[in-house]
Amino acid sequence: MKILVINAGSSSLKYQLIDMDNEQVMAKGLCERIGIEGSNLQHTNVAKDEKTKIEKPMKDHGDAIQMVIDALVDEKIGVIKSMDEIGAVGHRVVHGGEEFAGSCVITEAVMKALEKCTPLAPLHNPPNIIGIKACQKIMPNTPMVGVFDTAFHQTMPPKAYMYALPYEYYKNYGIRKYGFHGTSHKYVSQKAAEFLGKPAEDLKIVTCHLGNGSSITAVDGGKCIDTSMGFTPLDGVPMGTRTGSMDPAVVTYLINQKGMSAKDVDALMNKESGVSGVSGVSSDFRDLSAAAKEGNDRAQLALDMFSYQVKKDIGAYAAAMGGVDAVVFTAGVGENDAATRSAVVEGLDFMGIKINEDKNAARGTVDISADDATVKTLVIPTNEELMIAIDTKRLVENK
Ligand code: ADP
Repeated sequence: MKILVINAGSSSLKYQLIDMDNEQVMAKGLCERIGIEGSNLQHTNVAKDEKTKIEKPMKDHGDAIQMVIDALVDEKIGVIKSMDEIGAVGHRVVHGGEEFAGSCVITEAVMKALEKCTPLAPLHNPPNIIGIKACQKIMPNTPMVGVFDTAFHQTMPPKAYMYALPYEYYKNYGIRKYGFHGTSHKYVSQKAAEFLGKPAEDLKIVTCHLGNGSSITAVDGGKCIDTSMGFTPLDGVPMGTRTGSMDPAVVTYLINQKGMSAKDVDALMNKESGVSGVSGVSSDFRDLSAAAKEGNDRAQLALDMFSYQVKKDIGAYAAAMGGVDAVVFTAGVGENDAATRSAVVEGLDFMGIKINEDKNAARGTVDISADDATVKTLVIPTNEELMIAIDTKRLVENK
């Protein structure tokens, strides 16, 4: 079965066509500037390793999806003969609230429930929903599945997801920890179990998704029991441009004492903070390491703050699970930045976490643990699109 994976943003749409017989990507690409002047499609035919850029106005997501389909079936740049070869479409959806504890086949009722989650992710869910509707219009007979960033975290117990606000704030407004990057945490925790040759049910794993946005998750017996992102993806460790956790009173201080508006504080915390704000250099860890090597103290401080908070979360989640069998690093920084991995686990040998620096220099799926470590430290490249396709296939086959 061939599965089209769609990740629709407000003005962009990413896609991959995956052949599930061999889990290989056949084509992938990106529509940019949807509804804005200069819209274009960048398409890659993976087997031929050929990239094509098509500049054509796309007034909405419907136009974008049509262009994707046209590219996929095109004689020259395409990879399939007809749209009918697409067995199902898997849609990434950011927020599933408490409605969705797993991926599900999209029905009328699901669309209604999705709309209910929109206030929780006012920037992200509307384009996801528009993407689904546009696809349904063009491919009315193709089954569609929604895969939620929050779903994997729905197994957290109330003591982990509740905030200590008056209870009615949870009841009336849904204010609680939801967690994000769930598709990635699920994928790498499953891959870790496979790699270790043990059932996920028997393992306690801390997964560290360290990218532009970062989150850490405690996966006990294959289920998430806690995670570092919260009501929104602003919580947890410092990120590229996001603060991560801090005393919430800073917000009211800035508003009441410094005269900032709520909108200004929101922009400050989401776009101007994190390792970028602290360093004044960049949100990119490559730039930060280069600057730190040249003696930039603030770049070093930003890196130190980041690895310190990740380290603390690993310790906290080991405590929460009553032990840890494996620590997994994934995403842009987790997969590529050996120095950050090293800084994160430094000093954790007291709990059996210790890496071998030669192994740490390798790429791909690798065990970087030292021989005398009692906890495995693994690097596992994430693949959210494949996870979406796996869930989509499973659900449409069981329909
Ligand atoms: P996103 O959260 O946007 O999906 P990614 O997981 O792609 O982010 O991670 C992007 C980040 O990965 C970049 O900001 C960069 O800091 C980091 N990164 C990528 N490659 C390297 C590398 N070789 N060394 C250090 N950091 C890297």
